[in-house]
Amino acid sequence: MAEALKSSGIGFETFKDQVLFEADEILKPDGKPYVVFTPYSKKWLEKLNTDGVVQFDSESGLNNFIASTDSKMPSLQEIGFTVGRFSIPGSIIMEDLIKNYAETRNFPGLDSTSRLGLHLRFGTISVRDCIIAGMKLSAVWLNELIWREFFMQILANFPHVEKSAFRNEYDRIQWLNDEALFEKWCDGRTGYPMVDAGMRELSQTGFMHNRVRMVVAGFLVKHLLIDWRWGEAWFAEKLLDFELSSNNGNWQWAAGSGCDAAPYFRIFNPAEQARKFDPQAIYIKKWIPEYGTPAYPQPVVEHTEARKRCLSAFQSALKS
Ligand SMILES: Cc1cc2nc3c(=O)[nH]c(=O)nc-3n(C[C@H](O)[C@H](O)[C@H](O)COP(=O)(O)OP(=O)(O)OC[C@H]3O[C@@H](n4cnc5c(N)ncnc54)[C@H](O)[C@@H]3O)c2cc1C
Repeated sequence: MAEALKSSGIGFETFKDQVLFEADEILKPDGKPYVVFTPYSKKWLEKLNTDGVVQFDSESGLNNFIASTDSKMPSLQEIGFTVGRFSIPGSIIMEDLIKNYAETRNFPGLDSTSRLGLHLRFGTISVRDCIIAGMKLSAVWLNELIWREFFMQILANFPHVEKSAFRNEYDRIQWLNDEALFEKWCDGRTGYPMVDAGMRELSQTGFMHNRVRMVVAGFLVKHLLIDWRWGEAWFAEKLLDFELSSNNGNWQWAAGSGCDAAPYFRIFNPAEQARKFDPQAIYIKKWIPEYGTPAYPQPVVEHTEARKRCLSAFQSALKS
């Protein structure tokens, strides 16, 4: 676009907007990018304390631009958008929810996360306003916004992650890539209620709770031995808050192949996760009406067997 405009003599300017600190603003003392989250977040917070949050007056610039052109702005319908089938959460920072976030965020049966991901992704809320709220209301919530910037700088500094593992030895894993099992995972018919509830929530709403995203991602990669890129692509198609760097970074985290990833031998037990984070099965029953009846499918794999199979596939890839 920049080149096409330039060749027609039209100016093209870019401005920092999506993040508080860009990829080259938080670097290690040797000038290289961070690949581990904790020291990155420490440096990010130090810079926040020194620089503060600098806000930009973007609206007046935009209004001047619109006023200076003869043509009127086309409506969304005129440029081809139609009304979607999902309801869109508001772009409001709910202070009480953020205050309680540290205690409630892991329970998918509670409506306890901000649902601002979609607005951050499309720029319909200011990340600076969110950071100011995080500073005031919840260090844990602020930390999540730092994860967002961490993965953005990873993608910018290590663009190979878009197509391959951050750590290339993980590209040697022999995936089973069973298409019938992948379809069951997509449809929420694996027989693991926490996984199935999450996948159904995703298809029906375009959203899935973060704890459940971790469970379904781990299950696909570790229990079913399906390439994380298949799951990443499904999420990219379905998530309203889909954003390449966060999606890729979190999928690689779940696969153990990314920067600062959980070690591959840490394998979530989906039944245990359900007992811990949805003890009354509120979330599960919401998305699986046939839960507890004979109509609900039997598990497609047995946890202990699948765990052993995963460990052996990862171990042989990593030592070869
Ligand atoms: C496999 C997997 C895929 C994911 N794909 C995406 C994606 O495509 N887009 C996306 O924005 N997030 C993604 N996440 C991160 C996280 O699940 C969502 O940001 C969060 O669930 C969105 O809900 P919320 O807006 O209520 O978040 P809140 O819990 O209220 O958090 C506030 C904001 O912090 C950021 N954030 C929170 N957790 C993370 C995280 N782990 N990594 C990066 N940023 C985070 C988001 O911008 C989020 O909106 C993914 C997580 C997993 C495990």
